Amino acid sequence: MADKPFKKIDIILIVACVLFASIGLYLILGGYHFDENWKLMKVARVSNESSTPDKFAVLDMPDGVKQGSKLKDDVVTPTDDKAMSDDMSALKQTNQSTKRPTVSDSGGGRLVAIDAGHQLRGNSVQEPVGPGASQTKAKVTSGTRGVSTRVPEYQLNLDISLKLRDELTARGYKVYMVRETNEVNLSNKQRAEMARDAGADILVRIHANGSENSNESGTLTISPTAKNPYVRHLYKDSRSLSGNILSELTKVTKSINKGVWETDTMSGINWSSIPVTIVEMGFMSNAAEDRLMQTAEYQEKLVTGIANGVDSYYADRD
Ligand SMILES: [Zn+2]
Repeated sequence: MADKPFKKIDIILIVACVLFASIGLYLILGGYHFDENWKLMKVARVSNESSTPDKFAVLDMPDGVKQGSKLKDDVVTPTDDKAMSDDMSALKQTNQSTKRPTVSDSGGGRLVAIDAGHQLRGNSVQEPVGPGASQTKAKVTSGTRGVSTRVPEYQLNLDISLKLRDELTARGYKVYMVRETNEVNLSNKQRAEMARDAGADILVRIHANGSENSNESGTLTISPTAKNPYVRHLYKDSRSLSGNILSELTKVTKSINKGVWETDTMSGINWSSIPVTIVEMGFMSNAAEDRLMQTAEYQEKLVTGIANGVDSYYADRD
């Protein structure tokens, strides 16, 4: 018949069209596209940039599957558009419900010890202020108390320390907590030794201040002096840790920067065997600052500021 060869060509053309359309559809749904040099590219989401979840990176994947395994660890490859949009709405929901912590990898697995200052009941039994010292000090005191809120310092210190633990963990640090409850009996010497025994890299001691002058307010950090008889070798790093935390903290809180206080009178510093700082977040003897430190918003600033300071200490040291 005259039209028979046409039918064969028709079938071949239809099959070819369907095949071509299927390949096209597969590539589009898979997120592939051709760049200006007709190179096959794949659009994929970079998972470790969760602070900017809307960012997409274009990855050059000329060999497709072969490179896929190499990229698996750091790249999430959406299988289709629906999976991608589900993923995005999940991210949006997470962002709405929890503003903090900021997820990043600035910590690089370093171990940070946090000592929430004081405890429910002080212990007036004496201990030497440093290794081999004849001078002694109470093992630990119960700290100050909010002049307006009546919140005890040990409670504020613990609240901030627990939030700081979460923030540092989210930034890729490992965290060792000297205490996670107020019902402990740990001297300042013991606290320093616990941080050392945990193998921590630095010790951050969280405190709040008290003054007879109710107008006094602001933030300071405490470091040993360059001539400290016990931890002179830790001076440079402790001073840098104190300076970095103070400047980053006051940048976020906008509180008065009262400087780094260098002193050799702190047993918790003198007994340390790793770089150490005391953060005096603010004055509980100042009614306004006391009330401010009990707000969730300001506590978030304190935590962000201290964590930024730890980040910047390591950025300086590396
Ligand atoms: Zn204190």
